[in-house]
Parts: sequence; C-alpha cells; structure tokens
Amino acid sequence: MAEAKFVTALNCMDGRVQEPVVKWMKEYGNADYVDMITEPGLDKLLCEGSETIKNLIKDKITISIEKHDSNLVAIAGHYDCAGNPCDKDEHFRHVQECVKVVKEWFPMVEVIGIWVNENWEVEKLEF
Ligand SMILES: [Zn+2]
Repeated sequence: MAEAKFVTALNCMDGRVQEPVVKWMKEYGNADYVDMITEPGLDKLLCEGSETIKNLIKDKITISIEKHDSNLVAIAGHYDCAGNPCDKDEHFRHVQECVKVVKEWFPMVEVIGIWVNENWEVEKLEF
C-alpha cells in the first residue's frame, strides 16, 4: 500500500468551513488526509497578527511539511467570517497576502488561496 498523502489547510475555526475545505483539498491535492491549522479569521491573523501568532502558525505548517511530507498549503477565507468580519474583496486581499507570506516561508511547496462562498462551496482564487 502506498504511503498516506497529506496536504495542509490554513482555515478559519468556523465549524461550517471544515468539511467543505477537507473535501475540496482531498480532491484537489489527491490526498488521503488534510492537516487542518485553524484560528478565528486566520486570513487576517497571518497578514496583520502579531509576530507571535504568525510564528505559531509557521511552526504548525513546518510540522505538516516536514513530518507528513505535505507539498500543498491552502489558505482559506470564507463568507460570514466572525473572526475577520469584512467584505469579500477584503478577504481576497488578505488571502493573497497570506499566500505571499507562506510562499516566502516555504518556497518548495505549492501555495494556493481558496474562498468558501455563501453556499459553503470552495472556489480556488486566481491572483
Ligand atoms: Zn471565520
């Protein structure tokens, strides 16, 4: 049996966006498991949060990449986010900025931005 394949999602803690993101990531990354790193409004925290919180998130991504051989990291923003209450354009701007940050940290992996819309469907963002 082939070794299990892991990918990584940086997602909001919101319960409504867990399953859609796991399902989409498994399909997109052809993966068995999704390592889920969550914070409320993570897309904003990774742009505008303290260095402490950014480093905590970075450490979690490192574990997923080094211990689980993940080669794909997605950053998600979503509709009706309580942790980062702003309009869709602002979320897109935040996610785009997060993608840049994570690419600088981990240039060897694919880093993408995704949006969970009002129907709880995942859309891949193109910047
Ligand atoms: Zn949220």
